[in-house]
Amino acid sequence: MGVAVGIDLGTSNSCVAAMRDGEPVVFADQEGRRTQPSIVAFGYGKSTVVGWRAKRQLMYAPESTVVSAKRLIGRRPGSEEVERMKSQSAFGITTGEQGDLRIRVQGKLFSPAEISAHVLVHMKRIAEAALGETVDKAVITVPAYFNDNQRQATRDAATIAGLECLRILNEPTAAALAYGFKQGKRQHIAVYDLGGGTFDISILRIDDDFFEVIATAGDTFLGGDDFDYCAADEFMRLFCQQSGLDVSENRTVRMKLREAAERAKVALSTGEAVEVSVPTLYRSPEGKEYDFATTLDRFTYAQWVMPLVQRTFDVCEDALKSANMGPRQIDHVLLVGGMTRYPLIRDSVQGFFQKAPNASVNPDEVVAIGAAIQAHNLTNEEETASSVLLDVTPQSLGVRTVGGFCETIIPRNTAIPTESTKVFHTAFEDQSEVRISVFQGESRMAEDNELLGEFVLDGLPARQRGQVRVRVTFEIDNDGIVHVRAVDSVLGQERAIRIEARSGLSVAEVQTARFDDIDF
Ligand code: AMP
Repeated sequence: MGVAVGIDLGTSNSCVAAMRDGEPVVFADQEGRRTQPSIVAFGYGKSTVVGWRAKRQLMYAPESTVVSAKRLIGRRPGSEEVERMKSQSAFGITTGEQGDLRIRVQGKLFSPAEISAHVLVHMKRIAEAALGETVDKAVITVPAYFNDNQRQATRDAATIAGLECLRILNEPTAAALAYGFKQGKRQHIAVYDLGGGTFDISILRIDDDFFEVIATAGDTFLGGDDFDYCAADEFMRLFCQQSGLDVSENRTVRMKLREAAERAKVALSTGEAVEVSVPTLYRSPEGKEYDFATTLDRFTYAQWVMPLVQRTFDVCEDALKSANMGPRQIDHVLLVGGMTRYPLIRDSVQGFFQKAPNASVNPDEVVAIGAAIQAHNLTNEEETASSVLLDVTPQSLGVRTVGGFCETIIPRNTAIPTESTKVFHTAFEDQSEVRISVFQGESRMAEDNELLGEFVLDGLPARQRGQVRVRVTFEIDNDGIVHVRAVDSVLGQERAIRIEARSGLSVAEVQTARFDDIDF
């Protein structure tokens, strides 16, 4: 039997851990690095590489190097987030034959789940090399605010990677689990998780080995990447001014400035000012080379990114309101995600919660460690010491009703697993089918929410209007994934209904995907 690991599948970086002799262990690669960039580079030699080697390719072949695939996973073409990513990415983002989202690299199309699967395989192999054993099961973490489509697609990625996904676990919950492990204290904690691509805040009650999420809120398009794009836009403005050129649409220039923006941000997290320099940022068709150089200080950077920082606190307010708590009632604030290394974030969190954030956890590893603890709990059920974890669903689940409104069936922040039943009536005589559209989100209008899927119950018996009733049960499982089943009142037949095509991959595609060409 293989080992069960915890994998933090991050937007920018990933980390893998497992429990060994009662303690969590983070696995390092052969060079001793404990996290890996979630980057997949194609055509490196003849093969595909993942992690640090892929990151090196980013600078000179950005168009065949896929970064931040997690921002695309479970999303639909044409959505606002996808359009934004399209304008920022050097690799292609397109629509596949089934109308689903695909990443185009060197003429080949990949689903975001396949890209994430490459990262998962890489993490699995790092753990296997360190352990000398096979790894075949994993708890994989996702941002708490991920919707059903994004969770399902992450599960598909695990299947493609040859891993049994024991549980999809929310990142802040994993962090709380790692923090509270063996602490035995009664407390309320807030987990402020600002990673590369997403922001989440969760409020938990911990009592000994009992972990209960009270509320969660988030923004799946607010993270370190946005800070980098924001600074890169300012660099672009400066470069265009300095050079007299307009290269604002040049993708390679944009990508290089984004890289420079990230380096400047990391340098500013320890220094007051930084010299930014990008030699040969642009080479004109005539062969003239243009460098970029400027000085950036913390104050200017703070002015640029303050609106992004403020957005995180709007989300915090929302979570506290759902939990019926004020910032002072929180005993400890945990910081998770690489962006929380930045002093402006730490200071702002301290200002908001009026207490210094807890410094005892390593923001890069805590999520993988929590996932490893949960993987251990799930595979060692006989142990009495395993903790109890109660999580919530981050977004309301509803159906479209007349007038395009969304009727909530399961409100957000409901403890999971949960189920709720709704009865639908036929609206006209001899109606033979009922179409049900399932949405996730908080808007009153269905179309402003995320469509999870639609299904049709057909073959209904011919009756007067309203005489045929269909009882539809919506269930959200421990992974936060939605299942639907229906029974019609006249025939009494039960049918399971699968919400189809969520990751853009069919079941067959998920099962047949192969990675013969990965070079680790
Ligand atoms: P994560 O997804 O948690 O790995 O977070 C990655 C994000 O954290 C990226 O946007 C990084 O640029 C950012 N990051 C990592 N280290 C630092 C640092 N020292 N200062 C500021 N941002 C950082």
